[in-house]
Amino acid sequence: MRTSALLTFLLMPVVAIGFEVVGTSGARAEIVLDADAPAPVVHAAAELRHWVKEITDVELPIGDGKSGLPNKICLTVSQEVLDKYPQKSQFLAGNDGFGVSLDGSVLYVFGTQPKGVLNGVYELLFLNTDIIWARPNLEFGTLFTKRSNLSFTVTDWVDKPCYLMRGWQTRYGATDVEFNWAVRNLSNWSSYSTMKTQPLNDKCGMLKEAYFGHNVTGLYITPEKYFDKHPEYFCEINGKRVRPTGAHRSQLCFSNQDMIQDFIKEFDRLVDAWPGSEMYGVFAEDNYDRCRCKSCEADILLPDGKVLKSDSSNFYSTRFFLFVNQIARHAKQKYPGIKVSTYGYFFTEIPPAIPVEDNIVILLCPITKNVKYPVTSPKNKTTFNKMQGWLEKTSNIIICDYYGLTRVYPRPADLSVAADYRYQYERGIRYTHSEIMSDGVNRTDPERDLGIKTWDGNSIYYWVMSRLAWNPYQNPYELRQIYLNRVFSEAADDVKRYLDITEYVWHKNGEPSFWSTEPDHSWNTMCILDLVDEAKEALNRAKSRKLSDKSRKMLMALVKGLEDNPVLEFNQLRKEIESNLQSHPEKYVNLLKNSRFEELRPIVEGKAPLDWTVSVFEHWNFWKDFSYGTAGYSTNETDNSKAASMTGVEHAFYIQTLPVKEGEKYFTRCKTKLEQSPDRAQLTARWQDDGHRWVCVAYNRDFYPHEVKYGEWQEYKGFFVVPKGATKLTLLLGTRNAKGTILFDDVELYRIQD
Ligand SMILES: [Zn+2]
Repeated sequence: MRTSALLTFLLMPVVAIGFEVVGTSGARAEIVLDADAPAPVVHAAAELRHWVKEITDVELPIGDGKSGLPNKICLTVSQEVLDKYPQKSQFLAGNDGFGVSLDGSVLYVFGTQPKGVLNGVYELLFLNTDIIWARPNLEFGTLFTKRSNLSFTVTDWVDKPCYLMRGWQTRYGATDVEFNWAVRNLSNWSSYSTMKTQPLNDKCGMLKEAYFGHNVTGLYITPEKYFDKHPEYFCEINGKRVRPTGAHRSQLCFSNQDMIQDFIKEFDRLVDAWPGSEMYGVFAEDNYDRCRCKSCEADILLPDGKVLKSDSSNFYSTRFFLFVNQIARHAKQKYPGIKVSTYGYFFTEIPPAIPVEDNIVILLCPITKNVKYPVTSPKNKTTFNKMQGWLEKTSNIIICDYYGLTRVYPRPADLSVAADYRYQYERGIRYTHSEIMSDGVNRTDPERDLGIKTWDGNSIYYWVMSRLAWNPYQNPYELRQIYLNRVFSEAADDVKRYLDITEYVWHKNGEPSFWSTEPDHSWNTMCILDLVDEAKEALNRAKSRKLSDKSRKMLMALVKGLEDNPVLEFNQLRKEIESNLQSHPEKYVNLLKNSRFEELRPIVEGKAPLDWTVSVFEHWNFWKDFSYGTAGYSTNETDNSKAASMTGVEHAFYIQTLPVKEGEKYFTRCKTKLEQSPDRAQLTARWQDDGHRWVCVAYNRDFYPHEVKYGEWQEYKGFFVVPKGATKLTLLLGTRNAKGTILFDDVELYRIQD
């Protein structure tokens, strides 16, 4: 059924006789612009000139066609040219696709939107040369073969995107280099799209969104302006109105009508301050805080006469949309044509029990999706059901995914991404963007090194995903091959062999892959499956090939992931340490207090900060993200001693902290018993600096066994080096998304002397 529609999509480029751009005597073509060419078309001309010069060392003139050169490349959105090619123009109506047509000595690159012409220029270069914008890195991220002359042979085609919004939200905001990488790979949305003044948006014809990001108390009803006068506008938790702080911006009391009237005033003020955007964001804060006041917890009478009780899973979402609907109705009246955007995330990822206004756009964030499998897989049933619920409610959906939030392991999520994009497209979704790691040598954010290392191993997948957002019906394996050939040339097969191994290992390890999944387990699995040597051999073969400077740098970045890899190194070391511990226990001191959980103390509830409670175990704090689940103690039947337990907690840890110094090495292990599948536990090491900020590292945080067992005690262990800047170690025993009981016992932490 889809096939016929798709055939028109895939109107393949037709190879014509060469259109000469640069010859032995220099420039053979002029780039021609209309006098009133819009900014993105002017930028398209500058980009075409720039890249042709990079490739050939020859600069093409940009003018009005009077240069006297034999050929012209005419970049245009003019109706006259669109009318000349009615079939192609019709195909391009309402999208930022492009047409390319050759008429004698004039090559037209045209679109119905200026951004379409810019996309057309990038594709003209991509299809007629071997250029690839492989990663944002300025020094070696764009690769092409130098040549002294250039003819375009692909000069007649038309193409349009499946997704009308495509792009990446970069961690800690984009840089120009990251922005350009995305635009050259056909994105029309970026982190810059959420900025009020960013000249590159207009220059490149990007989509824009006003007031993006969590903001109901950060931007609209701020505590500074409202809390003292109207504490009742804010969330009531445990009988008290909570003041949002910089560290934790709690939510509003969404049922308070006076608050909503003030919210509308703030909304008007903010629309006035940022006129001209198509979308204005009203976003819940980034947490599950829920006002428990009487009015918020009161039954909700639904339009069909049914009553929704406060313990229903969609109650809080319904309460929130009763609030947003009011803002949207106001906006519809006062600002016809604009949309109010809001998240389908956390408690609103569950659709409400009421209709949502038709000027509301849902930014649906499937944050618990396991990207090892497409959204349609039974493994992603919960996410799928929520998405289905939303699809039944509205077609105004932007999927905000997490596909680019990877860690330092080559994560081949592109295959699931292709399937997800196809599924969503076929269900009528036309807008999507995803979060991605940053890749910037000049960055100063805490994830700078993590971002670069992640890109070192993942730029192939990020590139393939970018191409898929344009057209998810492309074969991801073929896209990978294009990337390998253009980036690694003679070493393409060797690199492919390496990536095949990492892909095999990733699938073999059984661990679900979320936005925050650490890489340790995948590298450990590579050791367990005894594939490290084979992986090294593949990359050594790649290194032995004759490569250009840039290809070699791209290769060495990938090699670093394997050769400069503490997880693999420690796998070797750990064996030595364990045998030393066995043979010379007197040399090692367990640094943890109450490490066998024998010393109890009474539970004290409700201690600040909000979600901390003091544990029953001396020196161990119990922390949980959500207001349910219990901590306590149980018995370790193997020696009839006490053990720590947690039951039915979604996200919680036992925690002990210790002062540490940069560079110190530690070995840690504990015993863990899981009651029911598919619960998971972890032993985690994290670090803080002097200012209590978390220190971000690329490796070694979550430790758990290769094969998780149930109903029996298992050893969890790991080895780590205290990272730069860290002064405090936080050791955590805990879980995410667990239904049953999890026991911990005999936790050990040893400092290892060199
Ligand atoms: Zn309330």
